[in-house]
Amino acid sequence: MEQSGGREKMTLILESRSSNEKLARVTAAAFFSRLDPTLEEVEDVKTAVSEAVTNSIIHGYGGGPGEITLEAELCDRELTLRIRDQGVGIENVARAREPLFTTRPDEGRSGMGFSFMEAFMDRVDVVSRPGEGTVVTMKKRSRERQDGMG
Ligand code: ATP
Ligand code: MG
Repeated sequence: MEQSGGREKMTLILESRSSNEKLARVTAAAFFSRLDPTLEEVEDVKTAVSEAVTNSIIHGYGGGPGEITLEAELCDRELTLRIRDQGVGIENVARAREPLFTTRPDEGRSGMGFSFMEAFMDRVDVVSRPGEGTVVTMKKRSRERQDGMG
């Protein structure tokens, strides 16, 4: 864990396999917990991480081997998460982000992953290049608690 000023950073490198989706989700939640967020805020972050990491595993690497990097940073009351893969990439990001768009309807995918990330996080940015990979950057601010519990 790196600390400088009001910032804290963490990097987790994972093999692309479904069992690591939970590890990414739980690690991001534990890191975010330092802000003393509400349970709802923690659940939102877990859902968003789960969707992004699952996308890297099933779409980016097509279920095959690969490396997924989760970078997290806390600054003031804001969490920034970056999920990166070096998989196949996305040809048309705007279209991929549309609700119900999926390239794998046959596998029971509903095309709602990006929509969930957008709904549960304050900001979602996607940068992707076919053949190079995908980086999803998300931000979530934890609101100040007034109940004196923190
Ligand atoms: P769901 O998330 O509801 O199971 P989905 O994964 O298809 O379905 P989204 O998460 O919204 O839906 O992603 C939309 C599409 O964007 C995917 O079908 C896939 O084509 C593409 N995509 C998303 N993430 C990646 C990635 N990391 N690498 C390559 N393609 C991706
Ligand atoms: Mg998805």
